[in-house]
Amino acid sequence: MAEVLVLAELDPSGRARKTTLEALTAARALGEPSAVVLGAPGTAASVREQLAEYGAATVYVAESDDVDAYLVAPKAEVLAQLVAEKQPVAVVIPSSSEGKEIAGRLAIKTGSGFLTDVTEIAPDGTATQVAFAGATIVHSKVTVGTPIYTLRGNSVTAEPAPAAGTEQPVAVSVSDQARQTRVVDRVVEQKSSRPELTEASIVVSGGRGVASAENFAVIEGLADALGGAVGASRAAVDSGFYPHTFQVGQTGKTVSPQLYIAVGISGAIQHRAGMQTSKTIVAVNKDPEAPIFELADFGVVGDLNAVVPAATEQIAAR
Ligand code: FAD
Repeated sequence: MAEVLVLAELDPSGRARKTTLEALTAARALGEPSAVVLGAPGTAASVREQLAEYGAATVYVAESDDVDAYLVAPKAEVLAQLVAEKQPVAVVIPSSSEGKEIAGRLAIKTGSGFLTDVTEIAPDGTATQVAFAGATIVHSKVTVGTPIYTLRGNSVTAEPAPAAGTEQPVAVSVSDQARQTRVVDRVVEQKSSRPELTEASIVVSGGRGVASAENFAVIEGLADALGGAVGASRAAVDSGFYPHTFQVGQTGKTVSPQLYIAVGISGAIQHRAGMQTSKTIVAVNKDPEAPIFELADFGVVGDLNAVVPAATEQIAAR
C-alpha cells in the first residue's frame, strides 16, 4: 500500500496532539500512514503506541539535540530526506503555525506543491479548502512533486485504526544553513486546565460586548461548565479584555469546534473567517439585528450578563 508521511506534533507532556491523530486519520484516505517523530532524544518513547493506535504502520524516529536546538529548519530537512528515501504518495502535517512553516520549507526542498489549511482530503488527492473568509469552497490537487497538505484542526474526527507502529530510527544530519536560528530559551505558558483553543470541541468567545477584562470571568465560567476553550474577538483583544493568543478570526486563530458560542460579538466578516466552519454556532447578543444571527444555528437576544450566568448555572447543575 502507498505510504503517506504524517508529521507528529506533540504537546508539552510528550503526547500526540489531537491534530496529529486527525492527520493520521485523514492520511488513511490516501494510503498507509507512517508517523514521523522529530525531537530531542527520548521523544518517541511516550508517543509511539498512541501513533500506532491511530494507524501509523511505521514510526520514523528522528531524535537529536539538533532537531530541538534550532527552529523549524532541521525538521524540514529531515522530512525532505525521508521524502527522498521513502517516496511517499503524500505528506500530511497538522496546520499549526509551525506545521505550515515546515510544509512551506518542505515544498521548496522537494520541488512539490502544497496546500494549507485543508479541511478534507479525498482518496484521489483532491483537497478541500475554505477561502475568502468562507465565501468560497475550493477543491484543489497538487500536480507537481509529492503533495504536501496541512490539515486544519477539528475538520476530521480522529478515529483509531490499530497498526504495527514499527519503530524505525532515522539518522539526523543538520546542515549549517539549518543552524542559523538557535532556540535560546523556552518559556512555558502558564498551564491551563482548559483545552487548547484550536483543538477544543467547544469554544466560548467573548467580544466587545463583554465590556471589561474582569467581566471575561462570565465567558470563562460558561467555558469551564462546558469543558471548552475561551476565545475572543479582535475588539475584545484590542480593548485589553483578553490576551491576543486567544483571538479568533482572520488575524487570529481559526477554530472549527463542534460548538461555538459567540457572546457579545457582532459577527464581522474578519471574525467569521476564523469560526464559521464550526459545526453548531450559538450567538448571544442584545441587538436582534447583529450580523452574527445570520450565521448562528441558535440565537439568544438578550443581555449577556443575564443570559450567560443563567446558562452556566443550568449547565453546572446538570
Ligand atoms: P463589535 O462589533 O463592537 O460588537 C459588539 C457586539 O456586542 C454588538 O453586536 C453588541 O450588540 C453586542 N453587545 C454589547 N453589549 C452587550 C451585552 N451586554 N449583551 C449582549 N450583547 C452585547 N476581528 C476579529 O474578531 N478577529 C480577527 O481576526 C480580526 N481581524 C481583522 C483584520 C482586519 C484587517 C480588520 C480590518 C479587522 C479585523 N477584525 C477582526 C475586526 C473586525 O472587523 C471587527 O471590528 C471585530 O470583530 C468586532 O468585534 P466585536 O464583535 O467584539 O465588537
